[in-house]
Amino acid sequence: MKLSTKIIIALVAGGITGLLINLFAPGIFPQLDQFVFTPLGKIFLNLINMLVVPIVFFSITLGTAGLGDPKKLGRIGLKTVSYFLITTSMAITIGIALAYVFEPGNVGSFDTANAEFESKEAPPVSETLLNIIPSNPIQAFAEGNMLQIITFSVFVGFALTMLGDKTKGILNLVEQGNDLMMFLVNLVMKFAPYGTFGLIVSAVGSQGLDAIKAMGLYMSVVLLALLIHTIFVYGSSVAFLAKKNPLWFFKGFAPAMGVAFSTSSSNATLPISMSTAQNNLKVPEPISSFVQPLGATINMDGTAIMQGVATIFIAQVFNVDLSFTQLVTVVLTAVLASVGTAGVPGVGLIMLAMVLNSVGLPVEGIALIIGIDRLLDMTRTAVNITGDAACAVVVAETEAKREL
Ligand code: ASP
Repeated sequence: MKLSTKIIIALVAGGITGLLINLFAPGIFPQLDQFVFTPLGKIFLNLINMLVVPIVFFSITLGTAGLGDPKKLGRIGLKTVSYFLITTSMAITIGIALAYVFEPGNVGSFDTANAEFESKEAPPVSETLLNIIPSNPIQAFAEGNMLQIITFSVFVGFALTMLGDKTKGILNLVEQGNDLMMFLVNLVMKFAPYGTFGLIVSAVGSQGLDAIKAMGLYMSVVLLALLIHTIFVYGSSVAFLAKKNPLWFFKGFAPAMGVAFSTSSSNATLPISMSTAQNNLKVPEPISSFVQPLGATINMDGTAIMQGVATIFIAQVFNVDLSFTQLVTVVLTAVLASVGTAGVPGVGLIMLAMVLNSVGLPVEGIALIIGIDRLLDMTRTAVNITGDAACAVVVAETEAKREL
């Protein structure tokens, strides 16, 4: 049986098992979760997280060196960042528009009096951007600071190109390091179906079904916006910019989407999304190595969608009318917030505080959605990494045309 089929079966089986336990035997969930589901998920998460930092370093260094000429690197960089910013702005706009159409905050009653939310200090985006250059690369590696590792690796890759034969030995080492990591990704993926199953049962089993019912409309609007964005924005960019069949794209990338869904972490999924794009979507290694790690760090369309819907939802619940200028502010801040969101579970919700603050909406509103955010986090993470892969396919195709 193919690995992607196994992962899909694990997702469905995990969802059904979690739901059945939740409905019929919630009492046994904590024990089972502690001894079976959480350990299964944790082993898988650790296995893939173990590979993230070395993969990012080896692959970006190799990718940059492989691109050869700095002009090409600049061109690919520009295309990539433009694609990310444009699609993220579209994502928030879709989210906001659907929230106005369905008005999830005006249907049902929400307990705003008891809503409390202690917003953790989100790092200002300006600081994240300034800190892109690591003053100590070893620290960046130890802390897993993706943007800093990316910058360092681009520098090293560039130097390797410039020095040519002089550093051939190091280039060989990086090449072999990359092969080694990719071999390990394939090995770790054999455990993916079991890990995915454990993660999904844990997530579904621990959800309060009443909370989900109360927030049903909000959740449906977010899910609908995610679906529309995925089909239309990614589907059409693959079809029109890369001239490829969108079905081929979604089918090929499905295993990575399954892993993102179960882990809720773009970073943790990175090794798998890269190998899936390279093997199934035939994205050349240098392009995949450059576009996808950057995307996993700064491109979060699914998160932006949630932030757009959540902002309007909270405005509706608290009876605040937002002016057009305020809406534009929401779009701009949400683009920055999604750039600043780290690719780990739940951070998108913390960054939402920044968007709410920008237009003076009460941050306590986050308390209303936090309980059901895990399920949405899973889905939006799958969308986040699909956006990175769509960009990689588009960049690869347009670059291939130039070389013809
Ligand atoms: N979990 C998301 C990701 O890793 C980020 C978020 O929206 O919380 O892509």
